[in-house]
Amino acid sequence: MPPLPLSDRSGRTTDSPITFFIQKALETPGLISLAAGLVDEGSLPTADVAAAVAAIMADPAAGRAALQYGSTQGLPSLREKVLRHVCAADGVTPGDIGLSPDDVVLTTGSQQLLYLLGEALFDPGDIVLAEAPSYFVYHGVLQSHGVRVVPVPMDDGGLDVAALDAKLADLKRRGELGRVKLVYTVDYFQNPTGLTLAADRRPKLVEVVKKYSTEHRILILEDAAYRELRYTGPDLPSVKRFDPTNEFVAYASTFSKPLSPGLKLGYALLPSDLVAPVLHLKGNHDFGSANLAQHVVDRLLASGAFDRHVEELRRVYRAKRDAMLAALDAEFGDVPGASWTVPGGGLYVWLTLPPGVDAGPAGPLVPAALEAGVLYVPGEFGHVPGEGGELPRNECRLSFGVADAAGVREGVRRLRAAYRTLERA
Ligand code: PMP
Repeated sequence: MPPLPLSDRSGRTTDSPITFFIQKALETPGLISLAAGLVDEGSLPTADVAAAVAAIMADPAAGRAALQYGSTQGLPSLREKVLRHVCAADGVTPGDIGLSPDDVVLTTGSQQLLYLLGEALFDPGDIVLAEAPSYFVYHGVLQSHGVRVVPVPMDDGGLDVAALDAKLADLKRRGELGRVKLVYTVDYFQNPTGLTLAADRRPKLVEVVKKYSTEHRILILEDAAYRELRYTGPDLPSVKRFDPTNEFVAYASTFSKPLSPGLKLGYALLPSDLVAPVLHLKGNHDFGSANLAQHVVDRLLASGAFDRHVEELRRVYRAKRDAMLAALDAEFGDVPGASWTVPGGGLYVWLTLPPGVDAGPAGPLVPAALEAGVLYVPGEFGHVPGEGGELPRNECRLSFGVADAAGVREGVRRLRAAYRTLERA
């Protein structure tokens, strides 16, 4: 049979590395998954969504509106609410940062926005600077677009903005600044490390990007997917908050984490001149995200059910996070050279094992962990080869999202048992 006439893009697009792990979890009864980024099952808002759908359908006009096609940009009343929601968190009015509901686009999850922005901005050979490590699914998107990723180191304060400055200076020296399109940051409780961009780095990030925006604007994609899932500390202002002319920062977020991934509804606050290109592309994808989901979320925001739900989620996840941190203390506290992050929110803890330990997908810890009945995501997936070409192998992403507190504790205990078999080997 002659081969399929697949596109170059298709050739660059591979299966997510995590598929294997999801498959394993499904196949293995009793396995505790600290791998999946899924949300807490017991907290999914079934009653709130049932009430919202019932209220919409009880009013024939509202029901028909929700069951009809909507617009590509999304329900105007929800775009307004989303804008108010972000601006209230940032302590500004939309006008203060150059935004109106016309700059808001509702998307099919924030994942769609990540992809659409790529279609709007990238040609093969373009450059994106991203935190090392970063959201590994986004690496797949960048690969699909033929984009080169330049990794930027992180520390306890998240993206190292001084290092970003140095990397951009280096690209400028090499005459490659014209290929730099975007800086990608997951700045609240990052997937995969749980780290948050420090308050004083937020305005600096915008300043640095402005400084190098000589040939064209370099944009910041602020992926705030986990912002609402905050368990300790104050809510930090967004990076978007420091872009008063609405030129440099695209802010993407989602209702998947604070409400329900099944609704698959995301939102973006975009520089005004980026809205039309994104909408043209979105028109080709789906001419509008699921209208019923938009009407449901609109109701939940209007009634206060969303805010109540987020409060409840914070309580639930805080307890599970604490369970994971206590279990790590108890199980890995005596392992010299092991350390882990203490996230103020989100779903992930980043465990660094002693140098030389191979926790990567081809190393011995993955099968040992499976044997012990626990699954984690190898940290290697979040990295792209840096200048040395080497990927760190001694890191694990542990999620406290889906398992309950007892499962989280038991999962960490099993991981320690798996690690013990490596110590003995
Ligand atoms: N960004 C980050 C950092 C994520 O972790 C996820 C989901 N895991 C997304 C975006 C996309 O989520 P969704 O499309 O459900 O909004």
